Amino acid sequence: MTHYYENLEKFPVKADPPKGALKGVLKDIFTAKPRSSTELFKEFEKCLPLTTHWQHPLYFSFFPGNSPPSAIYGDMANTAMNEGFNLTPDVTEKRNVEVELKVMDWVADLLDLPECYFPKNGAHALIANTAGHTFLLASLAAKNKIQMEHYPNSIVNKQVGYMTPISNLAVERSIKFSNLKLHHIECEREDHLVDEFPLKAESIEREFQKDIDNGLVPTIFITSLGSTASLSIENVKEISKACQKYGVWLHVDSAQLGVYAALPELRFVLDDIELADSFTTNGHKSLGCGMGTSFMWIKHQDYPKYMSYNSESGGNITASSAASATNSDELPISSTQPSPEPYRSDVFITGPSKNRAIRTMIHLLSLGKKEIKDHLTTTLVLADYFRELMAADERFELMETKNKFPLVMFRLKGFTNDENHDFLNLVMKDNKIFVVSSSIQTTYSDDKESDDQDSEVMFIRLNVGTLTHEKKHILQAFTHIQDCAAEYLGDKQ
Ligand SMILES: *Cc1c(COP(=O)(O)O)cnc(C)c1O
Repeated sequence: MTHYYENLEKFPVKADPPKGALKGVLKDIFTAKPRSSTELFKEFEKCLPLTTHWQHPLYFSFFPGNSPPSAIYGDMANTAMNEGFNLTPDVTEKRNVEVELKVMDWVADLLDLPECYFPKNGAHALIANTAGHTFLLASLAAKNKIQMEHYPNSIVNKQVGYMTPISNLAVERSIKFSNLKLHHIECEREDHLVDEFPLKAESIEREFQKDIDNGLVPTIFITSLGSTASLSIENVKEISKACQKYGVWLHVDSAQLGVYAALPELRFVLDDIELADSFTTNGHKSLGCGMGTSFMWIKHQDYPKYMSYNSESGGNITASSAASATNSDELPISSTQPSPEPYRSDVFITGPSKNRAIRTMIHLLSLGKKEIKDHLTTTLVLADYFRELMAADERFELMETKNKFPLVMFRLKGFTNDENHDFLNLVMKDNKIFVVSSSIQTTYSDDKESDDQDSEVMFIRLNVGTLTHEKKHILQAFTHIQDCAAEYLGDKQ
């Protein structure tokens, strides 16, 4: 980085690489062999003449984009801590929100903003990934507000998004944020397996038809290949049958498990992925790319058309940029002229994904395919090791699974859910290890009146995949859990 800054002025400030300029440069270098840092930076440097340098002393263009050492330290500290999701109030959110709101108050104060923008007066303040994301949030909020207040009977309010009992909380939120009705698809499943949710096409079709008969419009189904709670996989083949028949978009959430398809023995996880319309897997989990690297693929060539569809203009592409992708000297800020081809950011909203791309590139190349696969394999071996330890101790029971994924689910044998919660509290008392519980419905019935309480089973989950996990840590965790079991059972007697 120092070298880069020192030599910045030697590069032309603006690069104008023809399309595909990197084709011959970054050729087949991602192989089994890891790259040395010298080699790695050679690859990085190959990108430099093809880069427009926003911090070049001769850069006076679109807007100043700065990242001084203080910001780099911040980024490094942030990436070093690499905190995960903000969904659970008691894990990282409390501190993050506190810092975020504090920072936003500082900025508001710096800008002498009126009182109405301070959260203490009921306002909301947040730091989003990009301005684009804030526009999305504002647009969706505005759309929902007007619809809610003035047009409660419009078509949009008839659109439905579907999730299942094992969907991630973010699925629920994205369906709600898009102002779609949220419907839950309940499903039949084999009682004893935690990691398979075999949905049937006919039961899904029945749900779709019921909604259509009620004047609704089935729109999207988000399914899980590797749920957060239990790494359960749903039956994409069956779901896609129903979705195709009813023209419903099928998105697959394989945020944690999807990257394991890199291993031949787990490739089956993504076997039916071509039946989906789009799917997500995260680079920032077991692949180690750093937070904010969520990979998404969309199957349809026409996706940009869907995203820029505007009923007012007869459904034409309404790329908002004045400049086309090939003539980029004009400011792409206003929406005066339609562009022949929409920008990526016109349809994906994201801004600086290229920064993440560089980070991902350096990460992947410096490991090489072999080491990446070795790491994934290690997580499976370590999970198996924990399973073996658990299986040998009759005080515990393992949740029965069909697959050996890197998540181990267990509970104290012969104890109720409440008692297992007490046991988990004991395990977590001094924060020596960090595990959370989850639960699963063991049976689903169409009879809503039946008492489902008893069929909910709580378990503790040990998720292996952190780059620092070694065998000794697994043993340490197990020993701690054993000690807690001894203490808990001792107290019980
Ligand atoms: C982790 C996870 C998510 C959330 O991913 P983020 O990138 O942290 O938002 C969603 N779905 C599943 C199945 C996950 O495992």
